[in-house]
Amino acid sequence: MVTAPADTALESVDITPELEQRPARQPDHAAENRALVGLAERMATAPKDVLEKLVGVALELCRAQSAGVSVAEKLDGEAVFRWQATTGALAGLAGGTLRRAESPCRVVVEGRQPMLFRSPERGFPALAAAQPGIAEALLVPFVVAGEAVGTVWVVAHDSARHFDREDVRVLSNLARFAALALQTLSQSGAETSARRQSEETSAALRESEHRFTKFMQHLPGLAWIKDLEGRYVFVNDAAEKAFRRPRAELLGRSDEEIFPAEVAAEFKEHDRRALAESGVQTIETLEHEDGVHHSIVAKFPISGAEGAPALVGGVAIDITERLRAEEIVLESEERLRAIADTSPAIIYMTEPNGYCTFLSPAWTEMTGQEVERGLGFGWGAAVHPEDLELTRGVFAPTPTPSRFRIEFRLASANGEHHWVIGTGAPRFGKSGEFLGYVGSVLDIDKEKLGEEALRQSVQIYRALGESIDYGVWMCDPSGRNVYASDAFLRLVGLSQEEYSSFGWASVLHPDDVERTAAFWRECLRSGQQWDIEHRFRGVDGAWHPILARGVPVKNERGETTAWAGINLDISRLKQVEDELREGDRRKDEFLATLAHELRNPLAPIRNSLHVLRLAGSGPDTGRVHEMIDRQVNHLIRLVDDLLEVARITSGKIDLRRERVDLVDVARAAIETGRPAIEGARHRLEVSLPAEPLVLEADAVRLAQVLSNLLNNAAKYTEASGTIWVRAERQGRWATLSVRDTGVGIPPAMLPRVFDLFTQVDRTLGRSQGGLGIGLALVKRLVEMHGGSVEVQSSGWGAGSEFTVRLPLATPRAVEPVSETRPDESLPGSAARRRLLVVDDNRDAADSLALLLRLHGVEVLVAYDGASALEKVRAFRPEIALLDLGMPGLDGFQVASRIRKERDLDGVVLVALTGWGQPEHRRQSSEAGFDHHLVKPVELGDLRQLVALRPRGR
Ligand code: ADP
Repeated sequence: MVTAPADTALESVDITPELEQRPARQPDHAAENRALVGLAERMATAPKDVLEKLVGVALELCRAQSAGVSVAEKLDGEAVFRWQATTGALAGLAGGTLRRAESPCRVVVEGRQPMLFRSPERGFPALAAAQPGIAEALLVPFVVAGEAVGTVWVVAHDSARHFDREDVRVLSNLARFAALALQTLSQSGAETSARRQSEETSAALRESEHRFTKFMQHLPGLAWIKDLEGRYVFVNDAAEKAFRRPRAELLGRSDEEIFPAEVAAEFKEHDRRALAESGVQTIETLEHEDGVHHSIVAKFPISGAEGAPALVGGVAIDITERLRAEEIVLESEERLRAIADTSPAIIYMTEPNGYCTFLSPAWTEMTGQEVERGLGFGWGAAVHPEDLELTRGVFAPTPTPSRFRIEFRLASANGEHHWVIGTGAPRFGKSGEFLGYVGSVLDIDKEKLGEEALRQSVQIYRALGESIDYGVWMCDPSGRNVYASDAFLRLVGLSQEEYSSFGWASVLHPDDVERTAAFWRECLRSGQQWDIEHRFRGVDGAWHPILARGVPVKNERGETTAWAGINLDISRLKQVEDELREGDRRKDEFLATLAHELRNPLAPIRNSLHVLRLAGSGPDTGRVHEMIDRQVNHLIRLVDDLLEVARITSGKIDLRRERVDLVDVARAAIETGRPAIEGARHRLEVSLPAEPLVLEADAVRLAQVLSNLLNNAAKYTEASGTIWVRAERQGRWATLSVRDTGVGIPPAMLPRVFDLFTQVDRTLGRSQGGLGIGLALVKRLVEMHGGSVEVQSSGWGAGSEFTVRLPLATPRAVEPVSETRPDESLPGSAARRRLLVVDDNRDAADSLALLLRLHGVEVLVAYDGASALEKVRAFRPEIALLDLGMPGLDGFQVASRIRKERDLDGVVLVALTGWGQPEHRRQSSEAGFDHHLVKPVELGDLRQLVALRPRGR
């Protein structure tokens, strides 16, 4: 740094430190060489003009608008700086002086350092007179005989021109030259006066020669002089070295004697041209062991005393090194240019403030604009207005310039804006000074659009996820959840954040955690499909079985970019599955039981038939008949149960409701069940109320209910147990309970005994000959009546109690109770009944008549419709049992005829048929039948039949 006087005015104009910040332009060695050689030549031929030439060179090389050389001297005893030579806009100053104290040169020579001034007239008012005004002035001091005596300077009048370190370098070279020239001039000025005193003294001449030689020796390049014959008369040290010969071998010799023939010829030709054209500038080449040397050479004629050329002078500067350096620079520049030219991205270079100094051709391709329009700050016009602040921001002054990467929009050739990525890296000079940025601008519009499309498809996907009722999820490639649809988050009661940070592990069933985590890791590693069933705890506290499926989402390079899938709550499915499995299991068991049960009675029947055939009508026949009867009854009951359950499950049972007394029904059912109870030697305790329990009910079905319960009590109680039957009124309900001291029912089975085909102990059930249908029937029938049935048991061996509750009918004024109550037993009470049995199957008719007569009923038989009608009219039975399918008049016709005769009104008509479906019952009822019995008629049915109340009473 310059140690200038502490002068605020000076400080305000001294901007020397800025040189370090400014980017320096590339040196132009070729131009510089040419200029230096020209100067050297001028030095040799016309030393007086050297300074004029020098300021011209300074103006040109520094691209200045004025240039000059100022030299210190004494004028009338006052120290001044004289403008020894000036050129350019300030050429008019030449020869003038400025007081030393008022001149910026004083500061520069005292500081012995180059200095840069901005608007120096503010610090040096004397300069205000200089016109045009000075924007920047760069001054470099030079030293003669150890003393700084002057400056070489360049001036910019235009504020756009800024000097840089390259200008300092060039000017420093010229300053050395100026010092040399001044030294020579002052000495030759002394020489002139000496000659005046003793013109012819050879000593002076020698002295002059000596000085000339000394000067030549100090030239930065080669120098030599040849006579007109081409013999060397002078070579300086540099030339001696360059020609690789001692001076003694050179002097007096010509090029032919020294150099190879072609080289010599070339030199000679240049000498000839120099004489003819009074000077040439050219390149000469010399080959040495270390390679070819190139020199820039100036050759010029030197006039003798008569004015005609007497000698040929030559000066040369070896530019081999510089050429090589330039080549290297050129090469690397070319390489860079090739990259810049072919790059699809714009390559740019700026000064620190973003002032653009270079743009590659991609600029034109991308923006459709000339490169020139983008240079300087012109690029800003192509940036989207909304992005200007961002792009300019990266060039804001900063103490630590760093790399940047921004996305912004740049106008494209068609006027639309494209998204681009702009990157930049700071450039630094040799001494670490910040020079500006170099970087690229790449069009990423397509990628940006792709990104946008992706964002949109993600949005659509999410919308879908929200609209469906099961979990949709997405994970990043590392397996972190980035999205789970609301439906699923609601199920497990987690927020998206909790879920994303692996919160789902906390709601996963502990037994599933390890398996799930291991499989997930495996999927992430191998990219295989995610397919697992595990359990999540729902906000409802229950474990929900979840079917999870997922696939890796891949890009076109096959890399996994995400995972997507669903979480399906399969609780319902699982439940249905379980139910189906359970149903299926029960059905299988049932079929096995059924097969067994159907086969059981067949064996004794077949045996009995053998016995009959062998024994004829022996004493055992009665017992055999009983056996067959029992087994056939059993078979019929099984088949009836099956038919019944089939009808009941398909909803085909109709209740024939009428006002009935539950007590009556109970009595009848107890009678039906008595043989089974007594067969097992059980004690039966019946407790029935004295008052009637009137229901709107189907008596047959209610009897069926109680029979089933009684039958079970007898079956599931060890021989000689006790069974209680109890009926009573409880408010508006009638209850009927059947209790036993039997095997009991374990608590777990209690809720299930009413299910179809359920048997607590299959082996036991089997031994007792059931199919697991009875209780299901009971429950259905009771419920059809608007009632309910319950079971109580304290477990194995503790006995059971089944309780049926049925709604009582709304009471009537007078209940014709006593009249409807059947007699306790069939014989006797039924004796008053008169019955007509009609069937074209004589055996069937006769055997039924026989059975009824055995029970004391008065029975008549008819084998066809016509005689049936006759007998009804003659015999006036209370009840007529009519087979439906008969030749001639069938049962329907007989019935409708009877119904047409008013005086036969009281006859109860009972249809007797193999068809028990509801439509058959409907048909018979339409034909006028009161009841419908399905063959074969059971004793129990008959008992109920004879208990029927006559019509119209
Ligand atoms: P099953 O034909 O097997 O008797 P049910 O539907 O009548 O069919 O009865 C279902 C099951 O309930 C029976 O297999 C038996 O295990 C149990 N059960 C029914 N009644 C009783 C009872 N009184 N005591 C003990 N267990 C009974």
